[in-house]
Amino acid sequence: MPRLIPRPQEMPSSIFRYLVARAVLVLVLMAMVAVAAILGLLQARQDNGVLAELHLPRFRAAVHLSMDANSAAALSVRMSTAASQAERRTLLDRLAERHQAMEDHIAAMVDVGADAESIAALRRLRDSLMDGAIALSSISQEEISLKGMDHKDATVMSRLSELEQRRRNLVLRQQDLSSEMAGFVTALAAEAGHRFDTQRDQASRTQLKAVAVVVACALAAMAAVVWMYVGLRRHVVDRILALRGAMLNWRGGVVEVVRDGNDEITQMSDTLVELIGAVERRNQELEVMAATDALTGLPNRRRFAERSDEEIRRAQRYEAPLSLVVGDIDHFKAVNDGWGHDVGDLALQHVAAIWRGQLRDVDLSARMGGEEFVALLPETAAAQAHLVAERIRTMIADTPLTTPGGSELALTISLGVATLLPGESLADLMRRADQAMYQAKSAGRNVVRLAS
Ligand code: GH3
Ligand code: MG
Ligand code: MG
Repeated sequence: MPRLIPRPQEMPSSIFRYLVARAVLVLVLMAMVAVAAILGLLQARQDNGVLAELHLPRFRAAVHLSMDANSAAALSVRMSTAASQAERRTLLDRLAERHQAMEDHIAAMVDVGADAESIAALRRLRDSLMDGAIALSSISQEEISLKGMDHKDATVMSRLSELEQRRRNLVLRQQDLSSEMAGFVTALAAEAGHRFDTQRDQASRTQLKAVAVVVACALAAMAAVVWMYVGLRRHVVDRILALRGAMLNWRGGVVEVVRDGNDEITQMSDTLVELIGAVERRNQELEVMAATDALTGLPNRRRFAERSDEEIRRAQRYEAPLSLVVGDIDHFKAVNDGWGHDVGDLALQHVAAIWRGQLRDVDLSARMGGEEFVALLPETAAAQAHLVAERIRTMIADTPLTTPGGSELALTISLGVATLLPGESLADLMRRADQAMYQAKSAGRNVVRLAS
C-alpha cells in the first residue's frame, strides 16, 4: 500500500497563491531598485545643478573682481606718471573698461545671491578706486602743463612739489584700496569655496546613499529570486518529480507520495493514493475471478496448476507423502439429457460442495473442467487418501440432489487415487490418478481405485 510522508511545516493551500505571493515580492523589490535609482539620479542632478549655477560663478566673479581691482590700481598709478596727454587718455579708456568689467562682476555676484551689504561695500571700494584714478589723472594733467612753463619759477616749483606730495599719497591710497578690495573678494571667494565644498560633500553623500539603497534593494531582489528558486525547487518541482517517481515505482509495487500542507500537489498525491488503492482492489478481484470456476466457486485448472507445482516441489524436497484424488461424475451426460442443462449445473454445484466439504483447508481442490474434480492432499499417504476418496464417494452417493421440481436425483462418482513417487512429476502423477479413475469406471463406477 502507498506510504504517506506528511511534512509538519505550514504550507499555503495553493501553489498558485504561493507563486503569486513570491512573484509580487520580487516585483516590489525590483520596483524599489528602479525608484531608488531614479531618485538618486534626480538628487545628484539637482546637487550638481546647484554647484554649477550658484557657487562656481560666484567664485569666478570674486577672482575676476580681485584681478580687476589690482589692474585698476596699477593703471591709475601709471596714469599719474603719464608723459603725454595721449598716453593719459589711452590709460583713461582702459580704466573705463576695468570699471565696466568690475560692474559686470559685481552684477554677477548679485545674480548668484551675494548679500546686499557685501555688494554695497564692493561698489564703494570700486568708486573710491575710480575717484582716486581720476584724481591721479588730473594731477598728471596739471604736471604736464606746468612742465611747459619756467622751471625756476618759485610758484611753479612749489606747486610741482605739492602735486608730487599729493600723488604719493594717492598712490599709497590706491594700493590700499586695491588690497582692501582683494582682501574683501578673497573672503567672499573663500566663503563661496567653503559653500562649494560643503555642497559637494553633501552631493557625494547623497549619491553614496542612493547607490547604497540601489545596491541593497538589488541584493534583496537577488536574494528574493534565489529564495523563490529554492522554494519552487523544493515545494513544487521536487514534489512533482517525487510524485512522478511514485507513479513509476507503483509498477514495481512501491509507492511513495510526498504530501505537503493541502496544496494541489498534495491533493494530486491523495488522489493517486486513492486511485492506486482502487486499482489494487480491482486487481485482487480480477485475480480471484481468473483463478476461480464461476459455476462451483472452486479453484479452476489454472489455479490448481500454479499451486500444485509448489506442493509437489515441497513434497519432493522433504520426502513428504502427497496424494492426488481425481473424481468424475458417473453418467453425467445422462443427467443433462434427462433433466436438462440447468439441473446438470445444479448437480455440479452439489457435488462441488460435497467435494470441498470433505477436504481439509490445507488440501488443494479444483474443478478441472466438465464434471471432473481433483484434490491434492499434502502429508497424506495412499491409505489415508483412499479413505478420503471413499468418504467423498459415499457422501455423494448418499446425498441425492433435490431438483427445483422437488424430485430427488441420485448421483455417483468414480475416483482414482495416486500417491507421489520419488522424483515423479505432476503430469505423471495426474496420469496415474486418471488411469486409476478409468479403472474405477471400468469396474462399474461409484468406486475408488488406487493407482499401482
Ligand atoms: P461417464 O460415467 O463415463 O463419465 O459418463 P459421462 O456421461 O459422465 O461422460 P461424458 O464425458 O461423456 O459426459 C460429460 C458431460 O458433462 C458432457 C457435457 O455435456 C457435460 N458437461 C460438461 N460441462 C458441463 C457444465 O458445465 N454443465 C453441464 N450441465 N454439463 C456439463
Ligand atoms: Mg462422467
Ligand atoms: Mg468426464
